Amino acid sequence: MIDWTAYEAVLFDLDGVITATARLHAASWKRMFDDYLRGRASARGEPFRPFEMPGDYARFVDGRPRYDGVRTFLASRGITLDDGDPDDAPGGETVCGLGNRKNAMFADLLAGEGVEVYDGSLAVVRHLLRNGVRAAVVSSSRSCEAILRAAGLADLFELRVDGQLAAQRGLAGKPAPDTFVYAARVLGVDPSRAVVVEDAIAGVEAGRAGGFGLVVAIDRTGETEALARAGADHVVTDLGDTLTNGDETAPPEAR
Ligand SMILES: [Mg+2]
Repeated sequence: MIDWTAYEAVLFDLDGVITATARLHAASWKRMFDDYLRGRASARGEPFRPFEMPGDYARFVDGRPRYDGVRTFLASRGITLDDGDPDDAPGGETVCGLGNRKNAMFADLLAGEGVEVYDGSLAVVRHLLRNGVRAAVVSSSRSCEAILRAAGLADLFELRVDGQLAAQRGLAGKPAPDTFVYAARVLGVDPSRAVVVEDAIAGVEAGRAGGFGLVVAIDRTGETEALARAGADHVVTDLGDTLTNGDETAPPEAR
């Protein structure tokens, strides 16, 4: 369905695209924000309004760098906190403190549940590499390397642009296109000759803003319309479905 070999490189988001870790991120965000909102509401004698799934996650948090996600969601509720410092203790009432609390919860979930890989996505990566198309991972996550390692995929991608590298280089996070554009430049490929694969609205917007040749969205949460509106050329539920029937990489039942 998609002729991947018409492009020189494909830039993959990680969480929710290659690994099923978006679910763990979403659960950690919800637990952290609900704890915070419940405490804040009871201290102020206001009704508690929980973090809504999938809406609040999809619109304000998914795909963005961690502290941007905290800031963007709180702003949607009219709450402004001091940024604080990345060294803030998890749970301190600052943007960084809340982000760090979420990260601690995510690390616990990851250690308990392990990392599941999407077979359809892996089939596409292998198809690309066999056909000489370059493959890179571009993730907002500072845990990107640890997740790839836990999934046994540490050596699959020739380039990794993650939250740590973005912070070092001062690259703006998704929905800004900077991390994807940076990855294309390092590979020496013009964005018009490259594909972005994303599961987040912010990530699709980044691919669109970067002038990429194709933006493919994977809908993991029933947000197909929002992903298309954000600029995805294709929205699929399993990336493996984009491999044409009869392709050597398609599962036998699909041939
Ligand atoms: Mg994602």
